[in-house]
Amino acid sequence: MATALYRRYRPETFAELIGQAHVTDPLRHALSADRVNHAYLFSGPRGCGKTTSARILARCLNCAEGPTDTPCGVCPSCVELSRDGGGSLDVVEIDAASHNGVDDARDLRERAVFAPARDRYKIFILDEAHMVTQQGFNALLKIVEEPPEHVKFIFATTEPEKVIGTIRSRTHHYPFRLVPPSELLTYIEQVCSSEGVSVEEGVLPLVVRAGGGSVRDTLSVLDQLIAGSPDPTVTYDHAIGLLGYTHGELLAEVMTALASGVGSETFHALHKVIHTGQDPRRFGEDLLEYVRDLIIVDQAGQEAGELLPGTSAATLEGMRSLAQGMGTPTLSLMADVMAEALSSMTGATSPTLHLELLMARLLVSRGQGAVTAPVAPSRPVVAEPAKPVQQPSPSALAPLPEVAVDAPPAQPLTEPAMIDAWPEILEAIGEKKRGVWSALVGTEVMGLEGDVVTIGFPSLTSAELLKKPQGPGLAANAELVREAILTTTGHRVRFKVQQLPATAPTPPAAPPAAKEASKAPEATGSWPTVLPPKVEEEKSVEESELVVEPETLAGPVAGELSQVGEAVIREVLGGELISENRVDDEN
Ligand SMILES: [Zn+2]
Repeated sequence: MATALYRRYRPETFAELIGQAHVTDPLRHALSADRVNHAYLFSGPRGCGKTTSARILARCLNCAEGPTDTPCGVCPSCVELSRDGGGSLDVVEIDAASHNGVDDARDLRERAVFAPARDRYKIFILDEAHMVTQQGFNALLKIVEEPPEHVKFIFATTEPEKVIGTIRSRTHHYPFRLVPPSELLTYIEQVCSSEGVSVEEGVLPLVVRAGGGSVRDTLSVLDQLIAGSPDPTVTYDHAIGLLGYTHGELLAEVMTALASGVGSETFHALHKVIHTGQDPRRFGEDLLEYVRDLIIVDQAGQEAGELLPGTSAATLEGMRSLAQGMGTPTLSLMADVMAEALSSMTGATSPTLHLELLMARLLVSRGQGAVTAPVAPSRPVVAEPAKPVQQPSPSALAPLPEVAVDAPPAQPLTEPAMIDAWPEILEAIGEKKRGVWSALVGTEVMGLEGDVVTIGFPSLTSAELLKKPQGPGLAANAELVREAILTTTGHRVRFKVQQLPATAPTPPAAPPAAKEASKAPEATGSWPTVLPPKVEEEKSVEESELVVEPETLAGPVAGELSQVGEAVIREVLGGELISENRVDDEN
């Protein structure tokens, strides 16, 4: 029977231990400077080298040439403590999980009194030290406090906080960490080549992922893959099947369908996933990870290969074209939606249904991100050709000079700039209040007129939330939206809400540019909103209630078109004008 990989590759010196330099370097310093403490506490997640390090430390301390940071490897102690050795009489390993009582502690205490049989020190390694009972620790306390010259203690534990403080304070504490994926990947590549095993591209990153940063787990997974492989080469399909991950091609297919924004393709791709028997939650996690990778590819450009080790040039190229087609803002919005859906999927009665609903939301958020696509984000904001500003009715507002004190806008806010900034504004809202953000998913800027922004909602029911206060005695959620607009664009605006139309909209007072803007996502295939006719007009009544009064007003004031708007609000809808309220308030 072959020995397990992780036992065959157990490091024998600190130099061989990977990913723990922050711990092993100071330890080696202490050893070479002969400043060794009498008790150590090694803590950290399972399988990252605590017990192995304890054995190496014992080997370093008891080497005939030692104490040294590089054991000679040939003296009797070194041979006995090597990975094939039978163990040394002077190094006692105790599994505290099964020897955790007072009697065991007393026994240990008695053994510690005797001098080492042959070597420099009597070394006690207490594995799973957190399992020692309170009484056990108390019995140990005296000897750990003032041990005889020849005794060293090494405690290893996954839960250092469970080791009583009086013991802990007498040890030097070295926290071990999970090993970073890139380091693990390089390591198992070496293991494969020294084992003479060939693996297909993409297999090793999966192994690293399954190992979760633990060297022992990673090697066990690799061992299992190699042992169970029917072919001399471990294939990607074999690895996918055994580890339960979603096939990379399937992920790419779903993402491509989402990118195209065509609902039918998306659901076809999703059903293919479900028919392969994939666990919906696992698939969701894999897809989220894939989106993360796409964002990295989009942001890192040529350096993406270094950041995603183990990914072939061809795969990277495919990901690059997919990522560039969608852009980071859309991808990051999608990632947010997925992360939220995944957390609500835990224990869900029908995870498949959740997955399908998630796809729908992703299609919506994709359409939302697509609004920004045609406009380069870094493009300087160009003001629209100015409309002749009239000083219309006496009730209309004059530009307020003190506005500049509140928010000094370098340029007047334009509609394209507003549309451009919308995803960022949503992100800012998302950081402040998740609930408000989700109410705004799928919304679009439909127009900007003066300082009034029209926000289109797929459903006006979600807009209701904006009227609600942020908390008892606090301003309405709408204020949060206005603040986010202010911090993102530098303009304090008012806004009104409107139902997003199913087809090209004709909002009563929207300038022509607004119609085009709201048509744009339609053309690229956002989730269609079907509305019964005439609803638009009815809903517009609510819209006037939702126009919220800002503290200050910015931007150029209403021209001809807003007069049309006034007339519509006044005569057709029977609403009140904001400006009238405002002037009244001030008078
Ligand atoms: Zn030696």
